Amino acid sequence: MKNFLTFREYLKNLYGCKVYKVSIDADFTCPNRDGTKSKMGCIYCDQFGSSSRVHKKGTSIKEQVLKNIRIRKTRYKAKKFIAYFQSFSNTYGDLDKLKSLYDEAIYSHVDIVGLSISTRSDCIDEEKVKLIASYREFLPFVSIELGLQSMHDKTLNLINRKETLTDFIRAYELIRKYDIHLCVHVILGLPEETFDEMLQTAKFLSKLKIDGIKLHLLIALKNTVLGKMYLDGKFKSLTYDEYVDISKKFIGELDKKCIIHKLAGSGYPDDIIAPFWIYEKKLSVIRDISN
Ligand code: SF4
Repeated sequence: MKNFLTFREYLKNLYGCKVYKVSIDADFTCPNRDGTKSKMGCIYCDQFGSSSRVHKKGTSIKEQVLKNIRIRKTRYKAKKFIAYFQSFSNTYGDLDKLKSLYDEAIYSHVDIVGLSISTRSDCIDEEKVKLIASYREFLPFVSIELGLQSMHDKTLNLINRKETLTDFIRAYELIRKYDIHLCVHVILGLPEETFDEMLQTAKFLSKLKIDGIKLHLLIALKNTVLGKMYLDGKFKSLTYDEYVDISKKFIGELDKKCIIHKLAGSGYPDDIIAPFWIYEKKLSVIRDISN
């Protein structure tokens, strides 16, 4: 029996209607890709850096927003939207650049009613958090999404994350100081991580009383270090049953007020090496975790 609030339900309560996220690729990069910390990236990251891949390179933010909105209004009769800076690290730039990109997104269309910004903990500082918090003066929902993935530095090291739990805690404290909705991304099934260690991450986040969580299954994609590890027999992905089991336990450890933004992502079918079941059974895995 579901005993958590989904992000969709949360938004419906807040706005009184269904609200849709419109993904934006603002052509950012990431310190773990541009050579500042590494050029390799996280071992599971492909060249698209979590991009929605909906837009052609060079498409302006306004064009992206308008196209997304047009499609959702036609297809779903959608009325309200959140501008979602999704690809790579969306606070990785100077303050003026960030303000101009965020402004362009939220002023592109009158039905934009919220702002979500996905980033790395080491790309956050107080001025950037203050800037993001300033949008709450006229947007009812403003959030920062931080990729933690695991609380264990030995895992973060193994996946070449090039940031630590200390980086996350520093960013967490800044975001808390400005009272911005914080959604944390966690990956289940990371190499050499036991179920107990995954649950320690859940308990840790529960104590921090984060506002929301996105759970991801670790997927080995083509053209990634992890993909090669899988093909060389050095990484084994979670089975369907294992993912359902650990996700349920993970959610069970979280603070009851934590909003579940996502229970599984799937990636592009042509790029998935393993586990392929996530593409074929994404809806049933979400249903089985929720039941
Ligand atoms: S932090 Fe994100 S964009 Fe950067 S390498 Fe890792 S997964 Fe890719």
